[in-house]
Amino acid sequence: MNLEKVRNIGISAHIDSGKTTLSERILFYAGRIHKIEDVRGGGDGATMDHMELEKERGITITSAATSLKWNHLGEEYNVNLIDTPGHVDFTVEVERSLRVLDGAVLVLCSVGGVQSQSITVDRQMKRYKIPRLAFINKMDRTGADPFRGLRELKEKLQADAFLMQLPIGREDNFKGVVDLIERKAYYFDGDNGEVLRIEEPPAEMADEVEESRLAMLEALSMYSDEMMEKMLSEEEISVELIYEVARKAVHAGATPVYMGSAYKNKGVQPLLDAVARYLTSPLDREIHGIDPKDETKQIPLTPDPNEPFVGMAFKIVDDEYGQLTYMRIYQGTCEKGGSYVNQRTGKKERFSRLVRMHSNKREEIDSASAGDIIAVMGIDCASGDAYGPERNFCTLESMFVPEPVIKVS
Ligand code: GDP
Repeated sequence: MNLEKVRNIGISAHIDSGKTTLSERILFYAGRIHKIEDVRGGGDGATMDHMELEKERGITITSAATSLKWNHLGEEYNVNLIDTPGHVDFTVEVERSLRVLDGAVLVLCSVGGVQSQSITVDRQMKRYKIPRLAFINKMDRTGADPFRGLRELKEKLQADAFLMQLPIGREDNFKGVVDLIERKAYYFDGDNGEVLRIEEPPAEMADEVEESRLAMLEALSMYSDEMMEKMLSEEEISVELIYEVARKAVHAGATPVYMGSAYKNKGVQPLLDAVARYLTSPLDREIHGIDPKDETKQIPLTPDPNEPFVGMAFKIVDDEYGQLTYMRIYQGTCEKGGSYVNQRTGKKERFSRLVRMHSNKREEIDSASAGDIIAVMGIDCASGDAYGPERNFCTLESMFVPEPVIKVS
């Protein structure tokens, strides 16, 4: 697996902002795109049966981590969507679920703005320095106002937030967005949310587009001397440079703002593209384990498949097939049938079955390596347990929380 193209992301939101709806639409949409491609590959034409579509639309997120693929600019990204509990309290469970993320999408309601739970989760995410994008949802609602969300991100979360898009129409009339980097209008289909057509922005929005684009460039130039100099000398700034700086800015903690209506499946495709383009991969994170023999010592973990295996169980669920242990692999490779030592109990356990959870099926796999999130069936452990090649190798949780650090390249 190409680690650069792996995105382990969580979606966080104040209750009722549309986290569940957005997650479902992401799965629906990613799955649908693949289905269409599959069908095309099979030579059956590009259309999907209407009933199939309806069935797909009913997908629900039932898994603690769901894998999906997203194609961005002809490259395939492996996205693991991790369920992030939106608890108000800073519990061990929340902490654990944040620890396995490399990036996040913060969902706000276009009417509600930044609400209490967003503030709490944001504080938790800052502790782990998790880069994120914001998505202002429910743009179809009466009173929808993306500028309010933007203002509140700055005021209530002290986020370095800036719009990456402007809405075309609001409320019932919300039709699409203008991408401020490329100055292109994306119109969504009224029903399925697929980008229908890409055009020049409406002429009456020209001033608004330039104003918001300038605000975006000013915010981004704080992360790049080259861009700052070009801004000052009023030189043309290439789209490529803006993309590059935006990625750097996100990794350094900036919050670009996207918008749409998950419910109507609008804006999901550009958001997924932004996840692929800007959010961090496992290679961008520096993760430290803890030396079990001396908790003051940190052990650097590298997302290298050839290093000794280190993984952490972050969620355990029981279902009709037995215990399913969700695990993030921090280092090395684990093999189906391999035996690894639970660092807490010192017991060696056999990983007899490894699975990857998709929205509609579980896929049996033979091995998985660093950066990935999988589930192991039939092992007996507790949430938070680390596994390694031998006893006293490395743990991940202790009284102290090791701070993951983002490398800014
Ligand atoms: P969660 O609590 O954040 O997971 O929110 P849900 O996804 O359960 O959504 C809460 C309610 O808002 C549900 O009734 C959704 O149908 C509705 N909803 C979600 N997205 C949108 C949207 O884009 N527009 C409108 N108008 N309603 C939405």
